[in-house]
Amino acid sequence: MKYRVGILGATGLVGQRFVQMLEDHPLFEITALAASDRSEGKVYEDVCPWKLASPIPEKVRKLTVQACTPPLDCDLVFSSLPSSMAGAVEEAFAAAGYPVISNSSNHRMDDDVPLLVPEINSAHLAAIEHQKQRREWSGYIVTNPNCTTIALVLALAPLHTAFGIEAVSVVSMQALSGAGYPGVASLDAVDNLIPYIDGEEEKVENEPLKILGQFEDGRFNFADFRISAQCNRVPVTDGHTEAVAVKLRTKTDVKSVIEVLQNFRAEPQLLKLHSAPEKPVVVLSEQNRPQPRLDRNIERGMATVVGRVRKDNILDFKFVLLGHNTIRGAAGAALLNAELLVAKNFLRKR
Ligand code: NAP
Repeated sequence: MKYRVGILGATGLVGQRFVQMLEDHPLFEITALAASDRSEGKVYEDVCPWKLASPIPEKVRKLTVQACTPPLDCDLVFSSLPSSMAGAVEEAFAAAGYPVISNSSNHRMDDDVPLLVPEINSAHLAAIEHQKQRREWSGYIVTNPNCTTIALVLALAPLHTAFGIEAVSVVSMQALSGAGYPGVASLDAVDNLIPYIDGEEEKVENEPLKILGQFEDGRFNFADFRISAQCNRVPVTDGHTEAVAVKLRTKTDVKSVIEVLQNFRAEPQLLKLHSAPEKPVVVLSEQNRPQPRLDRNIERGMATVVGRVRKDNILDFKFVLLGHNTIRGAAGAALLNAELLVAKNFLRKR
């Protein structure tokens, strides 16, 4: 018997990725879809502005969309709701006994909520027990990072372990799908670049420090370095590109940096979790890669793809990275989190 899954925000771009990635999943099956009152009570295929190349899975297309309020007929919920209302809805589900695996930013930085990247910080799952006790919930909330953060932090983690990071500068070029649907108006997007994404730079500057920190004695101790982020929206459909420069605490060379990145393996790979990439970081050697259109689906969109690793004149090294924002940046991240929760016995059938 598979775990029964509900999706909050099932009609959105991330919700659609969940639906696509959960088709034929060995551990999970979709039993409930929920969205706003615009969609509530209607058949999924009639209200979902489906934007993916594969068709809506047969098992799901005729399901009736429900309201985002408990109870739902499922063992856990994935949340991909707008941050304007996700916070309270997720709390209501956790209080009602549901594990909530969230993409939204509302609870990411809470001091009792794991901001989980299974390759990096599965020890942070210890925060769940604190959360349940403190908030008197029978369920709980686990979050995944912002889409730009996760691509970045997968590359920073092995470098931090091997050399210690002292400083990071990152300039992002983020895809349109990162803004949801309908997202950025076409007249703003085409032939253009928008040098501002509300709240994004703060997320990219803060979330990696929680992820790369430790959960000890009931509290999170953040990693001790600084990040400077500049975030831009560009007319690419899927795939966030980031130009990164790092200052390291230990002296090293380009060859060693590349080796550390491409040899990175962690718990999801050892546990062979279904959605885990074989290599969390893939390093390309061509001078003009990674490119979003060509490289975003490497490792089924679950890896950070790195290229152009070279010395930097101000910090120590610089490189370009790419992550698929609705796969590893959103639905795929949450799915991998749920697979880790199964492997670690944090999920129960209700
Ligand atoms: P989206 O395409 O705009 O979809 C939003 C979803 O939320 C839709 O299902 C919508 O339902 C539902 N919704 C809106 N208002 C609601 C309400 N008042 N009550 C209940 N449901 C409501 O957005 P998205 O891109 O999927 O993003 C969803 C969340 O994931 C956001 O918090 C976003 O920041 C986060 N995220 C997105 C990405 C990305 O790459 N897109 C990456 C990481 C994280 P209706 O169709 O019924 O309106």
